[in-house]
Amino acid sequence: MNKVSSAKILIVDDMPDNARLLMNILSRKGFELICAYSGQMALELLQTVTPDLILLDVNMPGMSGYDLCEIIKQNRSIKDIPVIFISALHDLQNIVHGFALGGVDYITKPFQLEEVLARVNTHVSLHQLRKQLQIENQSLQSQLQQQLNIDQNLYEDLSKAIQRQELELYYQPIVCIDNGKIDGFEALLRWHHSRRGRVSPVEFIPLAEQTGLINSIGAWVAQESMVQLSRWHLNYPHIMISINVAGNQLLDPNFFSIIEKGINTTGVCPAQVKLEITESAIITDVDRAIQQLQQLRSLGLKICLDDFGIGYSSLSRVQDFPIDVIKIDRSFIQQKNWTIAHIIALLADSLNVCTIAEGIETVEQLKKLREMGCDYAQGFLFSTPLNALDATNLIAKGSLAVDIFQR
Ligand code: C2E
Ligand code: MG
Ligand code: MG
Repeated sequence: MNKVSSAKILIVDDMPDNARLLMNILSRKGFELICAYSGQMALELLQTVTPDLILLDVNMPGMSGYDLCEIIKQNRSIKDIPVIFISALHDLQNIVHGFALGGVDYITKPFQLEEVLARVNTHVSLHQLRKQLQIENQSLQSQLQQQLNIDQNLYEDLSKAIQRQELELYYQPIVCIDNGKIDGFEALLRWHHSRRGRVSPVEFIPLAEQTGLINSIGAWVAQESMVQLSRWHLNYPHIMISINVAGNQLLDPNFFSIIEKGINTTGVCPAQVKLEITESAIITDVDRAIQQLQQLRSLGLKICLDDFGIGYSSLSRVQDFPIDVIKIDRSFIQQKNWTIAHIIALLADSLNVCTIAEGIETVEQLKKLREMGCDYAQGFLFSTPLNALDATNLIAKGSLAVDIFQR
């Protein structure tokens, strides 16, 4: 910021000689100068110009420098302009009074030219910096506000999404790692927003969790996936369904009856329904979560620990979790973090639970996980998530991507 010398300074002094002297020094340094010979005249000027600094003589007939400063500091549009007093009165009391009125500095007469310049430079720089910060702050605030508005709009739209039938479940196959046979599907939520198009669950699930909408959305997901499963079971009775469950949902006292109702109304076999829970969902209230999971399991449901390994804080208690399946988080697979993936597979084995490797995109990844003794696989290598019709067609075809499994 090198605009200091082009700053505008208002000199207020009833003595023309003094004013001229100050103007001489400062104009040579490139400052833009305006001069007023009385407090009244300064006030009039301040209605049309906004200087970056005011050099104000204290001792003037009529309105003194102190009086003028008081008026300036009460006026919202000019109160932030720094005021430097210039006065022959150099007793402490006067100086303190000047600061009390809001002056930023006090120069005593007779002054040294260097001193005046140094102080003017300092305060002009500070003032310009403050103005710059204010502008940046305002723009940050308006950005923040905009974001809040967007979220508010998104929230309102999301709260109407079920009723407007904008939600849809997609299904991604989970295959047997040895032969590629479809074991079941993970239900993944899709939101088709009328204006924004597709909104990713990564964006709206956290919003739903924060606002409590997850309970009604989650109830819809559970019911809808079980209805779909019951349709598949008419022809393909072995298919499983995996339903994602958010943390707050698990702790919701109504959750159990929502799941129970889903099972009763659709008639699906509970052993073919897996609930996918993340570690973070459990650690909020471990004991309550364990109790809730035990109750769900007593209905016959399977519990799957999703995204395992990234929330390692629960590692010490994982053996207490009533689970049937562990899903190795896709980040380990995609970053080729085979050591961790292997440790998780071994852990699952010792806990006597199955493993699903998620996010398999290449044959190399598939082979590695098969070597580790993983049971099931899921990922773009086999299929992206599909709508119900395409998923049904895929089951009808039987196993998929057979050539991958022959290699
Ligand atoms: P998740 O439960 O871990 O689901 C797996 C995510 O990985 C899905 O993303 C899926 O499309 C993606 N994926 C699958 N295979 C691959 C692959 O090979 N490569 C890559 N890069 N990604 C793959 P999606 O559908 O965007 O869902 C993201 C997350 O949103 C889910 O992660 C889950 O936490 C949440 N979510 C989705 N549907 C629901 C729901 O109905 N309820 C709740 N509570 N959460 C949901
Ligand atoms: Mg999942
Ligand atoms: Mg996952």
